[in-house]
Amino acid sequence: MLPQIEALLVIQDRDHQILTLNNELEKIPRDAAAIKTRLTEAQSSLTSARQNIQQNELTIKKIELDRQTRKNTIERLTTQQFETKKNDEFAALGAEIIRYQDMVDELETQTLEFMEKSDNLNLTLKDAEAKLNIIKEGMADEVKALTEKKKNHSARIEELKQERTILAKDIEQSTLATYNRIFAKKGKATVSPLRENTCGGCHMKVISDTISKTIEEKELSQCENCACFLYSV
Ligand SMILES: [Zn+2]
Repeated sequence: MLPQIEALLVIQDRDHQILTLNNELEKIPRDAAAIKTRLTEAQSSLTSARQNIQQNELTIKKIELDRQTRKNTIERLTTQQFETKKNDEFAALGAEIIRYQDMVDELETQTLEFMEKSDNLNLTLKDAEAKLNIIKEGMADEVKALTEKKKNHSARIEELKQERTILAKDIEQSTLATYNRIFAKKGKATVSPLRENTCGGCHMKVISDTISKTIEEKELSQCENCACFLYSV
């Protein structure tokens, strides 16, 4: 293998590592934001669970009040019925009492329904509290892990960059410039193997001149389709 190719392969490996680490670094703010979003969502779930309970309690109170009002009316009507001497008025008041009693029964049914709902809402509240606690407990560790990751990745990138600078000194300026240009587009396929007359970078068959040039290893050879540097395997 040509020494230039060997050197370029090492540079390519370092460049690829730098690129991968940089990509991971770029994700960190998004991951941090996702942690915050999860917290905010859990907090708002808890708030709305509490509000739903309050609302339900208010509804129950209102129904109770309505029921009490109707019960008072029934008492009043019963007294009137007791005091009347007229048969038709007695019957009319009786019908009214039944009508009000039906309303009271209906409101009692509603109260039971809302009380049942209240049980479910309390379960939802407990669930929301538990979820928020889990997120809060895990959050510190997650944030710490992200901070560590950022620190370690940045340090490793610096190391790789320094290493790369030293490696690059052994490569001809024009070759390095060509390599840099191709790497920006093709990444780790910039220096590729030639297998069965096929370029490892673009998977196209190359012409016979390129094949001989690659096999002879007298000078650097590039794929005529994708421009990547080729070495024979
Ligand atoms: Zn190619």
